[in-house]
Amino acid sequence: MSSIRRHAITLIPGDGVGPEVALATQRILDAAAARAGVAFDWEEAEAGASVFLKGDQTGVPQATRDSIDRTRVALKGPLETPVGFGEKSANVTLRKLFETYANVRPARELPGIPSRYKGEGVDMIIVRENIEDLYGGIEHLQAHDVAQALKIITRKGSEKVIRFAYEMALREGRKKVTTASKANILKLTEGLFKSIGEQLAPEYAPIQANHLIIDNVAHQMVKDPAQFDVIVATNLHGDIISDLASGLIGGLGFASSANYGDGVAIFEAVHGSAPKYAGKNVINPTALVLSAAMMLRHIGELDLADQVEDAVLVTLEDGKSIPQDVVRQQGGDIEAAASTTGFTDAVIENLGRKPTSVPTAASRPRPAAPNPHKRWPDGEARRAEVGPATVIGVDIFAETLMPPAEFGTKLAALAGPEFELRIVSARGTVVWPKMSPAFDHPGFFRSRFVARDKSKVVTDEALFALIARVAGVATWFHLEKLRSWNGEEGFTRAQGE
Ligand code: NAD
Repeated sequence: MSSIRRHAITLIPGDGVGPEVALATQRILDAAAARAGVAFDWEEAEAGASVFLKGDQTGVPQATRDSIDRTRVALKGPLETPVGFGEKSANVTLRKLFETYANVRPARELPGIPSRYKGEGVDMIIVRENIEDLYGGIEHLQAHDVAQALKIITRKGSEKVIRFAYEMALREGRKKVTTASKANILKLTEGLFKSIGEQLAPEYAPIQANHLIIDNVAHQMVKDPAQFDVIVATNLHGDIISDLASGLIGGLGFASSANYGDGVAIFEAVHGSAPKYAGKNVINPTALVLSAAMMLRHIGELDLADQVEDAVLVTLEDGKSIPQDVVRQQGGDIEAAASTTGFTDAVIENLGRKPTSVPTAASRPRPAAPNPHKRWPDGEARRAEVGPATVIGVDIFAETLMPPAEFGTKLAALAGPEFELRIVSARGTVVWPKMSPAFDHPGFFRSRFVARDKSKVVTDEALFALIARVAGVATWFHLEKLRSWNGEEGFTRAQGE
């Protein structure tokens, strides 16, 4: 009978100011939906501090996972990981559980909102890889005073997020995609990301493609942010530059974000739980409301998304309801600032109006259906393509306080007939056979052994015997096989090697 379009959405109010911004967003969406013959079936779910405090070490209970599994869409407030409860952030857990590999953070100049770049036309989208890189959180204390984190970048993960960035650029009428990396230093990890960007660019020919080193991106974003359109980066770099981007357009109160996977999408504000403002009805809900507009586009409610976004723009443009964070930035009277509920009421009243000082949401290109993802072969097909790995040696990391010359001489003597000690290095710089003039002993070395006879297969037995001999001299704690594929070395050389 009824022609109402219904959408089930998982709503995670979250911690601190989360419930206030979530309620504000829910009210605005429900009001807009009622005008448009749409209804949301909100499935309220828990995650974050309250869950950790109940003893769930993940911060994301099964009922919440099941709800997102069902609805495939979540709108989420900020989550806290209380100190001493759980090892991992509930946010990161959610992103990983649902493989939301693309974190998208737009930064667009907003009317009435002060910023240093007012009038320059800042309008960029940062696409951050969301699963890999240092956020694998794989860390070890290798020696007592030596900590290590593994930076893992995969071809598949990089391809997924870079394609996402290009496809989003096409859908949203963007002109340029900048791949940002630190490939000049991290040749294999960041280098892989950069090279995949270069390989994919021709497939998306109408989009202009370039590559910039991430530090230059930071510099350029502060100097001339309007030059950027879409930027795609690995996880940690993307994390940092997307917060930088929030600062260009008025701060965290306005920074929206979305986490997209192939199945599930999770929408959230960039900001955290701002505990000092919790329960005070003073927080600016705009960031989550704009994230919800992204959610509406994702579920195909394009008109509704435009209406919500336009109502926010009109409210900011009108200047009658100014949230406290903006008043504070302007040095105005805090007492005169709009409360969270007051600002929300104003947005609801403005539903149906269009902004006049900035382009309306509907005037921007509308996202079309995503292009089918083309993927390079992986699994067995990819293995067949790249061929087998050849083991050519081993890096052995060991704790020692021996001077490099003594350590190197001892290890060279025990290399045996199969191996030669090519180098000893300290934190990536060769210290044997030659040493840098300003050597500062870190308490551990990496010794690189390679096969003397390149035509012979290096067996595990030979490696084990070598490791046992090294163990007689120093405490080894980490091993890395040195392998090559079709003559291409799968490891980097040390500084000075
Ligand atoms: P925060 O973003 O919560 O707050 C920092 C400051 O920014 C606030 O004190 C406030 O001055 C301002 N601010 C943030 N959001 C605002 C808004 N909507 N309106 C007006 N002003 C706003 O950062 P924090 O204090 O570093 O983190 C607090 C907690 O939030 C921590 O437990 C952290 O782990 C968590 N956190 C969660 C997320 C997430 O869930 N995605 C993100 C960041 C931080």
